[in-house]
Amino acid sequence: MGTIQEFAKIVSSNGDSKVKETSKDSGSIAKIYGSNVFNDRVMNARLPKDIYKALRKTIETGAPMTLEVANVVANTMKDWAIEKGATHYTHWFQPLTGGTAEKHDSFISPTSDGGVILEFSGKQLIQGEPDASSFPSGGLRATFEARGYTAWDCTSPAFLKEDGRGDVTLCIPTAFCSYTGEALDKKTPLLRSMEAVSKQALRVLRALGNTTAKSVTSTVGPEQEYFLIDKKWYDKRIDLISSGRTLFGVPAPKGQELEDQYFGAIKDRISSFMRDLDVELWKMGVAAKTKHNEVAPAQYELAPIFTTTNIATDHNQLVMETMQKVALRHGLVCLLHEKPFAGINGSGKHNNWSLATDDGHNILEPGKTPHDNEQFLVFLAAIIRAVDVHADKLRAAAANTGNDLRLGANEAPPAIISIFMGEELTDILEALGKGKKAQSKGQHYLNIGVDTLPSLPKDNTDRNRTSPFAFTGNKFEFRMVPSSASISGPNTVLNTVVAESLDHIATRLEKAKDINKEAAAIIKEVVNKHDRIIFNGNNYSPDWVKEAKKRSIPNISNTVDALAAMANTSAEKLFSKYRVLSKEELHSRYEIYLEIYSKNINIEAQSSIRMVRQQYLPVVMNYSGQLANTVTALKSAGASSATQKDILSEISALIASASKNLAALEVVTKKAQATSEAHAKAVVYRDKVVPAMSSLRADIDALEMLIPSSEWPVPSYADMLFKF
Ligand code: ADP
Ligand code: MG
Repeated sequence: MGTIQEFAKIVSSNGDSKVKETSKDSGSIAKIYGSNVFNDRVMNARLPKDIYKALRKTIETGAPMTLEVANVVANTMKDWAIEKGATHYTHWFQPLTGGTAEKHDSFISPTSDGGVILEFSGKQLIQGEPDASSFPSGGLRATFEARGYTAWDCTSPAFLKEDGRGDVTLCIPTAFCSYTGEALDKKTPLLRSMEAVSKQALRVLRALGNTTAKSVTSTVGPEQEYFLIDKKWYDKRIDLISSGRTLFGVPAPKGQELEDQYFGAIKDRISSFMRDLDVELWKMGVAAKTKHNEVAPAQYELAPIFTTTNIATDHNQLVMETMQKVALRHGLVCLLHEKPFAGINGSGKHNNWSLATDDGHNILEPGKTPHDNEQFLVFLAAIIRAVDVHADKLRAAAANTGNDLRLGANEAPPAIISIFMGEELTDILEALGKGKKAQSKGQHYLNIGVDTLPSLPKDNTDRNRTSPFAFTGNKFEFRMVPSSASISGPNTVLNTVVAESLDHIATRLEKAKDINKEAAAIIKEVVNKHDRIIFNGNNYSPDWVKEAKKRSIPNISNTVDALAAMANTSAEKLFSKYRVLSKEELHSRYEIYLEIYSKNINIEAQSSIRMVRQQYLPVVMNYSGQLANTVTALKSAGASSATQKDILSEISALIASASKNLAALEVVTKKAQATSEAHAKAVVYRDKVVPAMSSLRADIDALEMLIPSSEWPVPSYADMLFKF
């Protein structure tokens, strides 16, 4: 443990001499990687053989675990954690807030003679009973039955979280449910969706002749975008502190138009942050891989190496949390909001997704053998069908308050779901849709249903960066996902809609006499029925909006409308059929997400009102008073005061307008607050409060350009984005 802490100390320091020490210690990465994870290596080394075997069986097949096994695992886990400095453990879970939750329990158990022993039983490992009354439940659990249960998810390894001051806690990833077994969290439905897609994918594989795969896992690699600003600016902005985004502010004279930030050289201060971040993540077994400057000034990205969806989701939570923690150690603040600054790019998450068999084969790898190609094309067809039939659900899964400011703006994929397939695959699919021999760009011929299937190209030559759902060679990239949100929801939906499509296809294949013929017929049918969802052009162009309308593809611009797809009968049927979410669980989520939307806008409105009343107006009025004095003084001195007068009247007019707009915002905010039904309330926030905030912002931003910057009460965009 000494080495880890020493190394951590070295890398979290900015001193040059220490940096040298770090680079000398080149073997350290291997030493620290996963050092805080109770991973397979540790389990294998420390657990008795029979216990290790039993645990692996539970992890791999979901076989129930006996209390005896759990007791030994718990004790071993405790000893390991204590050796590494832990004093407490926590059942770490993911409530519907979108964040994570942890309540720490120490290992201590006092003895009758006044001493203490350290204990951790199998029961404590497997199950916890946190008071759940203060987590959102959307009516699933009344406060009088406040008990919630957390249950160990042994498919995601336990790990140690170290805080900046050396406090170490054993974290046990858990699912969180109510007394009656309803899921109150984001992990449970995700695990259920993984089971659903595995089951249906296996049916298709079996029908196509694969006899070896025992399970199929959805895999995810999420690219996380974020901003960093100096903490001294952040502390002066009520809007950033309370809502995560700037509610006022004139764009800096220079934005991202020179395209000089993307992949640009990383500043020392940022680089030092990134290095500490990597180390902290590596210790927890998060395979942080790439890091770079993103398009907007002060914007960056981190991508880990993909893993199972379950672990990727847990890890993404750790990535977001660790980014925020480590930033503070560097005097920086990490902003995860989807649109912290107007006029420049916001942040998203590119959710790279695929399906892999337990024997390590990526099903979306086009492959080289004919057999693989048929399989690939059938799965591709399943996904095309799923995305078309359930586009509204995918859209809903990517909806949040922040993304409303981003989707359809210049930098993000639009609110219209479509698939980018690349020219070559599109040509192949088109030919198959016509029942013709398909030809890929080389001299390959594709002749599904007869016998020989040539290799498909792995790399799409044209990488489309504007598509919300792009095929990128051997995986799909769902590019609409909000930067601040858990990736659990989007992946739960993705897994479930694909499971439904695979189910549909498996049912046909299982009945078919000639599998190849039936596979060809399915692909043909899918292409003809669902090819409207394929779009390889520029998704940012206004022409696509028109074209999508012609194709009857929905274009849902805001969260309130998007969420409707979570509550209709189609969603009820889908999610209950695959046992991902019961009708009640689904509706609870709809209610909660609407509430979160309203609460977010309410916080923004309150912050706007406060800033204008307490910061902007007093300063502006004071300045206009000074200006009026100047005008009077100039006049009495017989000098010209025309320019000063012009500016004064411009300012006065804006003050009048701001006061009027402020009053209007206060009125509509009160009205929204007084509306009780969740949907009606969200509609008032969307249709009245959001526009009222925009009008007020316009006045204040205009005033910012008329007041000396030295007088302006908050840091400007130019300060925040460029001064480190
Ligand atoms: P780019 O920015 O070009 O899309 P990145 O390297 O930033 O590429 O991110 C690609 C992400 O996709 C990484 O997280 C990578 O691990 C992930 N990925 C690669 N293959 C798969 C796969 N089969 N399933 C899921 N994710 C994958
Ligand atoms: Mg990408």
